[in-house]
Amino acid sequence: DPLLVSGSVQVIKTILENGYEAFWVGGCVRDEYMGRNVSDIDITTSALPDVITSLFDRVIPTGIQHGTVTVLAEGQSYEVTTYRVERGSDDHRHPAEIVFVNEIEKDLRRRDFTMNAMALGLEGQWVDPFGGRDDIDKALIRCVGEAKVRFQEDALRMVRCIRFASVFGFMIAKDTWNGLLEVKKTLGWIAMERIRSELDKMMSGPDPLRGLSLIKESGLHLEMKVPFPYQDQEQDVSFIRAIQGVSADQPDIRWALLLMGCKISAAESSDLLRKWTFSNRRRELILGLVKFQEAWDYSLREAQPDADRVLWIQLVLQMGVPAAEAWLQLQEGIRSTGGTALVQIEDARVWLKGMQVKSLKELALTGDELLTSVNRRGGPWMKGLLSHLLFQTAAGYMQNDETVLIEEAKRVIQDEGI
Ligand code: ATP
Ligand code: MG
Repeated sequence: DPLLVSGSVQVIKTILENGYEAFWVGGCVRDEYMGRNVSDIDITTSALPDVITSLFDRVIPTGIQHGTVTVLAEGQSYEVTTYRVERGSDDHRHPAEIVFVNEIEKDLRRRDFTMNAMALGLEGQWVDPFGGRDDIDKALIRCVGEAKVRFQEDALRMVRCIRFASVFGFMIAKDTWNGLLEVKKTLGWIAMERIRSELDKMMSGPDPLRGLSLIKESGLHLEMKVPFPYQDQEQDVSFIRAIQGVSADQPDIRWALLLMGCKISAAESSDLLRKWTFSNRRRELILGLVKFQEAWDYSLREAQPDADRVLWIQLVLQMGVPAAEAWLQLQEGIRSTGGTALVQIEDARVWLKGMQVKSLKELALTGDELLTSVNRRGGPWMKGLLSHLLFQTAAGYMQNDETVLIEEAKRVIQDEGI
């Protein structure tokens, strides 16, 4: 029972002892009921934020004007939010007004889906006015209240709806789906970052393909601020299928497959990933995979037995080992879902292992050492020469030994008249 063993028990007790109400609420209650791992623990309370702040030693005023403070207890953090209702919305994003209230049922009513609008007390008492548990038992996602109105208030809920359907394998209630279709245009109001964060959860789930087809079916991809590349035509289905063949903890490989499946080039991907507000780190990894694929795909290999190995080593040196390893996982995803991998995966693993150097810094000769030993000034010639030495050693044509490398450097300089 993860809720009961967490530090949040003490937080709730303290609030109760001071004469206020407090319950676990939202996603953590839903996950607990479903027997899933509970991630973030939220508490809802009748106490005002100032009161919560005064009750605990370590409090961060996360969103005090919305009634939320973060309480730190036993090394964990818990969001404690005062019962509140939201009124109106002019921009399909934020409520026009927030009002603190005294009854938990009113707070639950503002939440998006029945399964997210439940609360649980310390003694195991359920507050479930909209039949959330019943809907979970039926594997149904249903809006609290009238779907069209709820989606219009906050258009992000439409993407959350599909995300939950995809991650939990739930159906979407008919009224909820129809409401979504009616107001899907309002999605254009939502910042890409928030949409992507929901889609990321979908892409990290057990069935992203179901989510993707729900997006397509709803037409929501046509309403986003930044185009979502998932279209019917011109798809390379073996890449799309392969998404399911890649481990759920590798969403970036899955994103790369989505781009490839939609035939988005590396140049276009770079732009799109930026607009999608991916972090630089993730953008580089995803882009690296698309580039790796392109480089392999477009390279015209000579018909010699070692050609694949040579290309592989060149790409590993150029793109780096992490990208190479991720690309092999991507190829495995393709193969495991019935497609044809672009490389002999097992061979490539052996080739990778066999590389005695994998990057310039592993070379037994630094740029400075090179300059001293050939007694020359630095210049553009160095880069080419170092890559030559790197490739020769990586491919095993030469030992990674300073004397050997210097000898080869001198030979090249002489031969090419540098
Ligand atoms: P996850 O498991 O991904 O954290 P979650 O449902 O807990 O999913 P959170 O963003 O952590 O999502 O939100 C916590 C709770 O706040 C939700 O369970 C729901 O009750 C409420 N909530 C979140 N986003 C919205 C929204 N856009 N509209 C209405 N209620 C929302
Ligand atoms: Mg949550």
